[in-house]
Amino acid sequence: MTRLVLLGPPGAGKGTQAARLAETLQVPAISTGDIFRANVREGTELGVTAKRYMDAGEYVPDSVTNAMVADRLSQPDAARGFLLDGYPRTAEQVVELDRVLAAQDAALDRVVEITADTDEVVTRILKRSAEQGRSDDTEDVVRRRLELYTEQTAPLSATYEQRGLLVRVDGMGAVDDVTARLLDAIGVPA
Ligand code: AMP
Repeated sequence: MTRLVLLGPPGAGKGTQAARLAETLQVPAISTGDIFRANVREGTELGVTAKRYMDAGEYVPDSVTNAMVADRLSQPDAARGFLLDGYPRTAEQVVELDRVLAAQDAALDRVVEITADTDEVVTRILKRSAEQGRSDDTEDVVRRRLELYTEQTAPLSATYEQRGLLVRVDGMGAVDDVTARLLDAIGVPA
C-alpha cells in the first residue's frame, strides 16, 4: 500500500516521474492537471470552468478541485494506493486531502518534493511548449504559474516536513537518474 504525494514546481518533471513510479508501484498516478485537460478536451462543464483559470496560469478554485479529487480517490483503483501529482497545491487542499483520507481510515505514507532550479524549469517548460503545444506554457502564463507555486504551494513542504512525511529529491539530470533517486527516497529497491 503506497500513498504518495509529489510536490515540485511546474517543469520539475513530476508528470514524467509520476508515470514511472506508478508503473513500478502498481498504483494509479493521479494528476489533477491531466484530469482538467481531459475535461477541457471533452468539453465538459468542469472543463469549461477549469480552462478559464488554466489559460491564465491561475489555480482552479479549491471547491472545484477538491470535489474532483475526492471523487477520484473514491474510485476502486485508488483503494490500493495512489500517487498524487499536482495536488495538493494550497493549504485548503491539504486539509481536504486529510479529510478524505481520514474518512477512508487511510493516511499518506510519504510526500516527495522534487527540487529544480528556476532557470532549468523555465527551459524545460519552453521545450515542452514547443513539443506539446500546451496552451498554458506561454512565457507570461509560465511566470504566473511559478509565482503561484512559490506563494501557495512551496510552503506546503514545511507542513509535511513537520509531520515527518517529507523527503526531498534532486530533480536535475537524466530522467533515469531522477527515477532511481525517487525510488531510493521512498524505500523501493531499484
Ligand atoms: P499541471 O499539469 O499540474 O501543471 O496543472 C495545469 C493547471 O491545472 C494548473 O496551472 C492549474 O491551473 C490547474 N491545476 C492543476 N492542479 C491543480 C490544483 N491542485 N489546484 C488548482 N489548480 C490546479
